[in-house]
Amino acid sequence: MGLIRLLLVAALIWLVWRVVRQTLLGATREGAAPQDQTPQSQKMVRCDWCQVHTPEAQTVRLEERHFCSEDHRQQWLEKHHD
Ligand SMILES: [Zn+2]
Repeated sequence: MGLIRLLLVAALIWLVWRVVRQTLLGATREGAAPQDQTPQSQKMVRCDWCQVHTPEAQTVRLEERHFCSEDHRQQWLEKHHD
């Protein structure tokens, strides 16, 4: 009985080790992949009108400028188009 218990404990440790290792490897891969593949969704840009930081995906763009809303884009255009 002693040997079987030892084998069972060894098998259990091996299984736990495999699960832990896969979880750690999977976590680092999943943690790194979205940042590498979609850097724009995480990037914060500053509104050229009110200076508020907004995720780039939610901004209104005007060439290289970013605005937090269409309103602020219009206001910026009015100010810079005379
Ligand atoms: Zn703004």
